[in-house]
Amino acid sequence: MHRQPFDLADERLMPVIEDCFTGMRRVLRTADAELALFAANAHGAWEAAIQNLVAPGESVLIPISGHFAEHWALQAEGLGHEVRRLPWHEGLAIDPQAVEDALRADTERRIAAVFVVHTDTGSGTTCDLPAIRAAIDASGHPAVMVVDVVASLVAAPFEMDAWGIDAVIGGSQKGLMLPPGLSFMAARGAALERIAANPAPRMYWNWQRRQSDNISLMFCGTPPENMLFGLQASLRLIEQEGLEAIQARHALLAGAVHSAVEVWAEAGELSFFATQPERRSVSVTPIATAPGVDPEAVRRVARERFQVAIAGGNGVTLGRVFRIGHLGDTNPAMILGCLAGIEGAMRIQGVRFGSGGVDRAVAWLAEHLANA
Ligand SMILES: *Cc1c(COP(=O)(O)O)cnc(C)c1O
Repeated sequence: MHRQPFDLADERLMPVIEDCFTGMRRVLRTADAELALFAANAHGAWEAAIQNLVAPGESVLIPISGHFAEHWALQAEGLGHEVRRLPWHEGLAIDPQAVEDALRADTERRIAAVFVVHTDTGSGTTCDLPAIRAAIDASGHPAVMVVDVVASLVAAPFEMDAWGIDAVIGGSQKGLMLPPGLSFMAARGAALERIAANPAPRMYWNWQRRQSDNISLMFCGTPPENMLFGLQASLRLIEQEGLEAIQARHALLAGAVHSAVEVWAEAGELSFFATQPERRSVSVTPIATAPGVDPEAVRRVARERFQVAIAGGNGVTLGRVFRIGHLGDTNPAMILGCLAGIEGAMRIQGVRFGSGGVDRAVAWLAEHLANA
């Protein structure tokens, strides 16, 4: 990434962009979706989805899965749209039946799109996208399905074409292993038809304007060249390891974290925030703490004395959870060091936790890596 960017007329620039587009289609598992890359964080891509897919006066259905779904909802409201929220049931992933019921109830067909967060980083749940697609289809409602894959892409299986996803948004700093500051949107089929028919005024995020071979229209100005160099490199790393191998590594490391948390939970002060084991994310594990345990203090001690950075809760979970990230460029040693540092911090803080969590994680890894 730390190269001198090209002058905009340099003929080496377009091949970098094309390489990024080809690689992005490969990780999104789409043959021919249209793509746009933005010099913006993922909130920018959220805005692109709202502005291009939702016309003035139309509504958005958002099943709340945690902090990130709620913030996408707030952004749609900020842009003047009515949002119909499906209430959040803490610890549970999105209920496809509730999506179907809400669409059936929309007899006036005001809902333009269903916004679904695949892995809600706040709650550590990963929803069942094919089941949600089937629910939308069963309702007979024409709303398009738009998925936020910021925290799941590359780490967890995702199939844009095979699962019939109309539009997708994501960002650079999670499974794509890049710094923050680049985001993308992909759209196909019904989403492209909506975009074309949408009379909403728009400029910076204007999809059709960006579908150009003129670089300054594609990026609505100067492309973030160094981020593109980085994306090109990370896509090459992903290609080398292979999507299936990467997803197996994420499942393995998440399993190691989960096996430690199961042991920690035995003493009664810690528990999985995501209560459905099959819907736990392979990217992040939030751990709920009992009243009287201060997760922010555990974080501080882990960070300052064990050099282990873990996340806290966000929004309504602040002060009630800490979160372990196991996403991107991670390996068994990093995860074991992280779990051990958290145990050390919890000891200092007097948190009661079942002992032997790290041992259980080692055993899990050994069992699964014995014949690797
Ligand atoms: C991190 C994250 C975002 C927001 O990303 P920014 O780059 O900070 O805008 C959105 N959705 C999910 C699921 C995330 O994990």
